[in-house]
Amino acid sequence: MTRDPFALRDLAHKAGRDLENASAERIVEWAADTFGERFCVTSSFADAVLAHLVSSVVPGVDVVFLDTGLHFEETLDVREEVRRRLPVTVKSVRPPMTVGRQDGEFGPRLWDRAPDECCHLRKVEPLAEALADYDAWATGLRRDESPSRADTRIVDFDAGRQKVKISPIARWTQSDVDTYIEANDIPVNDLFNRGYGSIGCWPCTRRVKPGEDPRAGRWAMFDKQECGIHL
Ligand code: SF4
Repeated sequence: MTRDPFALRDLAHKAGRDLENASAERIVEWAADTFGERFCVTSSFADAVLAHLVSSVVPGVDVVFLDTGLHFEETLDVREEVRRRLPVTVKSVRPPMTVGRQDGEFGPRLWDRAPDECCHLRKVEPLAEALADYDAWATGLRRDESPSRADTRIVDFDAGRQKVKISPIARWTQSDVDTYIEANDIPVNDLFNRGYGSIGCWPCTRRVKPGEDPRAGRWAMFDKQECGIHL
């Protein structure tokens, strides 16, 4: 049964304070104890750190992947590896419109003209639909990824979707991530070995130059840093 949004909000704000300095594993334990099966993970399959971390505490957890129809093959390879190797249930969520139908209704390559609209159709709306079955979702957001993520809360209330949003690795640095990947043999997107710093849909992702913010290669032709699901 879905919980009252006001109760979820109060729960999120209290937990955000209580868990600010807790380990990622402790944060996931709290989420599992509090929300049970109404807790899921989201992943873009740039790597499988969050899916691994959460499934080590909650075997069988649902991992929601927004399958926009515009992902790199390498990203879909990570999804398959996660399916094979980790105790998770991968739920690939597709937008109601295929890319071809979107081209027909909005004109070709909407992402080149109106990326906010394209992200809304292919990511924001499908995520809202997918989260209807849950009270809380975990993300892999980290404060050190970019200025736009510096204020990420460990536990927050996602007022737009009326859900609790949990970022267990928000305090981790890139070095923490690298250490976890090596220690646990985590599947990682091969594009990181080819100059990409952050990975999304292929039309909106380019390699980064030395010294650039890792997310500088996302929507590089636009004044846009986020797809909209974290706003
Ligand atoms: Fe469209 Fe680009 Fe957003 Fe993907 S990242 S949904 S291609 S605008």
